[in-house]
Amino acid sequence: MSGVAQLVYGGTFDPVHRGHRACAEQACALFEGAVLRLIPCADPPHRRRPQASAEHRARMLELAFADWPAAHVDRREMRRAGPSYTVDTLRALRAEFGSEVPMILMLGIDAAVGLPSWHETEALARLSHLLVLQRPGIDAVPPYAQLGWSEAAAPEELLQSACGRIWQTPAPVSSASSTAIRAALGEGECSPVDLDPGVAAYIVRHQLYGAHGG
Ligand code: ATP
Repeated sequence: MSGVAQLVYGGTFDPVHRGHRACAEQACALFEGAVLRLIPCADPPHRRRPQASAEHRARMLELAFADWPAAHVDRREMRRAGPSYTVDTLRALRAEFGSEVPMILMLGIDAAVGLPSWHETEALARLSHLLVLQRPGIDAVPPYAQLGWSEAAAPEELLQSACGRIWQTPAPVSSASSTAIRAALGEGECSPVDLDPGVAAYIVRHQLYGAHGG
């Protein structure tokens, strides 16, 4: 297989937190040398609109990953009109990378559970591999085989082809969630423990999520 593996990590990141960072670290440890592409979702088709603007969310991502040379914040969904369908993003990336490069879509298990209802869900496995990250408290098993993904016996198997395999991590690495952080900020906490300090300062400076400087 030619080319460096590409990790594609999309989300609302409203705001980005230590759980996202822990998942990214876990993925980069599994797929050493991979490039990490962080893609803030502009208009999520399956959930209510994010609280912070896409530009604020992208800037917070840049702050949270500023020390990480292999991580890039990719604003392509912000430039595209209409709902931010993952299949459109993966098609555009596949056209850029070529047909041989292993491309690995990262999803938390809560998001993976919703895959059957995604736009053109049957096309996803022909575009990328899947890395599913465990989160605490979710036991459901998404129907990977039905969606076209075959289970790998080891993560390295994802590097041997361009798409179509799935690896699910065995245990959660973080219980952080943006919902909990938004709630804490709304209650007046300036720097919830699961926030990067630079991101916390940005939130206060821009008075996002009801935060107000102290
Ligand atoms: P919210 O609470 O607003 O739903 P979130 O914490 O789930 O937000 P998202 O930006 O929606 O954050 O997450 C982006 C991706 O990262 C999703 O696939 C999500 O499942 C995954 N993810 C987020 N937090 C974790 C975590 N602690 N462990 C594993 N996966 C996570």
